[in-house]
Amino acid sequence: MIDLERGWVRRARCRQVDPRVFFVHTGRPPDARAEAMKLCDQCEVRTVCFCYATIRNERGIWGGTTEQERDQRRPFILDILIEVWPEMIEEH
Ligand code: SF4
Repeated sequence: MIDLERGWVRRARCRQVDPRVFFVHTGRPPDARAEAMKLCDQCEVRTVCFCYATIRNERGIWGGTTEQERDQRRPFILDILIEVWPEMIEEH
C-alpha cells in the first residue's frame, strides 16, 4: 500500500477518500471506477503515482489507470522509468 512517508503521497487527491473506491473488484458499485478516475484526473501527482504503481505492480486504480492498463504499458516504459527513478527499482 502507499507509503505515507513519500512526499508526493502527501499531495495525493485520494488521501481523504475511502481507498475501496480504487479497488472496484471488492464489491464497490459499477460507478466506483468513474469516481476514482475523476479523482485521478484532478490530482497533481498523477504521473508519479502512475510510475510508482507501474514499477511496483500495484493492484487497483493508480494514476488514472487500472492494473490491466499498466500491465499493457509496462514493457514499453519500464526502461524509461528505470532511468528516471532508479531508487524505486532498487526498493522494489
Ligand atoms: S493519481 Fe489517483 S490514485 Fe494516484 S494519488 Fe492521485 S488520486 Fe490517488
